[in-house]
Amino acid sequence: MKKKESPKKTSAKQSKNSSKKEENTVMVSSGKAGKGLKAANAYNPRTEGLMPHSAFDNAMKQFDAAAKLLKLTASQTAMIKQPRKIVEVTLPVRMDDGTIQTFTGYRVQHNIARGPAKGGIRYHQDVSLDEVKALSFWMTFKCAVADIPMGGGKGGIIVDPKKLSMGELERLSRRYFSELEEMFGPDRDVPAPDVNTTPQIMGWFMDTYSMHKREHLPAVVTGKPLEIGGSKGRVLATAMGLLFATRRAIAAHKEKMAGLTVAVQGFGNVGGNAAMLLHQDGCKILGISDQYGAYYNMSGINIPEAMKYAEKNGGLKNFESTKLAKKFDNPAEVLEMDVDILAPCALELVITAKNAGKIKARYVAEGANGPCDSDADAILNKKGIFVIPDILCNAGGVIVSYFEWVQNRMGYYWPVERINSELEVAMNSAFDSVYDTYLQYNCPMRVAAFVIAIHRVSVASEIRGLYA
Ligand code: NAD
Repeated sequence: MKKKESPKKTSAKQSKNSSKKEENTVMVSSGKAGKGLKAANAYNPRTEGLMPHSAFDNAMKQFDAAAKLLKLTASQTAMIKQPRKIVEVTLPVRMDDGTIQTFTGYRVQHNIARGPAKGGIRYHQDVSLDEVKALSFWMTFKCAVADIPMGGGKGGIIVDPKKLSMGELERLSRRYFSELEEMFGPDRDVPAPDVNTTPQIMGWFMDTYSMHKREHLPAVVTGKPLEIGGSKGRVLATAMGLLFATRRAIAAHKEKMAGLTVAVQGFGNVGGNAAMLLHQDGCKILGISDQYGAYYNMSGINIPEAMKYAEKNGGLKNFESTKLAKKFDNPAEVLEMDVDILAPCALELVITAKNAGKIKARYVAEGANGPCDSDADAILNKKGIFVIPDILCNAGGVIVSYFEWVQNRMGYYWPVERINSELEVAMNSAFDSVYDTYLQYNCPMRVAAFVIAIHRVSVASEIRGLYA
């Protein structure tokens, strides 16, 4: 890899008093449905005025920037830019009190030129069609950057799952999968977990589908529990991928991970595990946050203890009571901390023109999908901040989902060492191609990632041709 230029250095960040290394490796899994936690006082960037426009508009701008560089023709653009199939369903569910409530669900298949659609299903009160379209778009190009033979899809249900009992959640999940049965299939569309959807929910999806088809079909969904065909390494895969990409970025700038300071937004599957892995790599995690608040300790947060706390309490609510960290008055401040690496690992569009100028990190590792809008991108680039874009940085999840799909179809399961080493090879190779393109075109890393991905999807689309 050739060297471009180092991200700007900021002062007094790397305290010599590195935090005690903890060997405890407790890892959190996805959301805690059924724990009855209320989202009172939850910080919501949508209502904090940080989300001025749509995620899908933002995705379209990202496409246009790379397509311009690639000199894509109007016909090539027409074949791959817009989602191909959009379905909305109304889902009636019998609640525990005997009443029937309806929920709105979506599934969008953006592109299947390179393989079956692949992408998670999100349960969140703020899910919208705009968001699902954007997420499906990113999946198409994420699979292409990672060079796995899958297309892009995404789904969602407008629901706060923490308000449902386990039984209500199961009935809602099964209803969603059966309503959309024709879309799904190991060779059609393969969902996975996303925000607030757990391995257990993937298990219900797989069981619903297999019951309807009268066959054992684990490859219809990934992120399943190990007992029913899940893959070793899947729970940690996205965070592990973020770690590999971050290590590569740091090494490309001739720096070392040990001693670098970090702030992480989001403390779920991606954020919690990314904080743990970065901590285990010798980084000092100064800030963490979730929907209940943001917390800091300038000497380094004891991440294994924070993980145990989040596991026990269903999140970081009242984490300040442990005295391991103080609470920010404004949770958005976690993004503006004076750290080397910022990892936004919660939701999209949290860094916009409103706060991009206040970002002090030198590296941004996008664990979440779409955390920066295009205005923010321009500001971060101008400030010399090195952004590892989402479609590269969080591709570890879909790469191991692909390994799970392969194992399900082979009926032969790999040891975790094989999963992690193949994941590392795939992430390093993806990072290096994006980094080389970034140097070659002298463009931001995000544009470079889209240049590679759009080229791959476009070529596949042209080889297949237009049916009828
Ligand atoms: P998760 O449900 O496990 O965790 C989400 C976390 O974000 C929780 O800690 C939640 O409290 C926090 N959060 C929610 N709203 C917040 C807010 N307003 N401010 C701060 N924190 C908030 O979900 P996840 O799987 O970790 O997904 C997080 C992001 O990573 C999403 O953008 C998702 O699309 C993306 N992603 C996930 C995977 C995966 O494998 N799970 C893969 C690729 C990308």
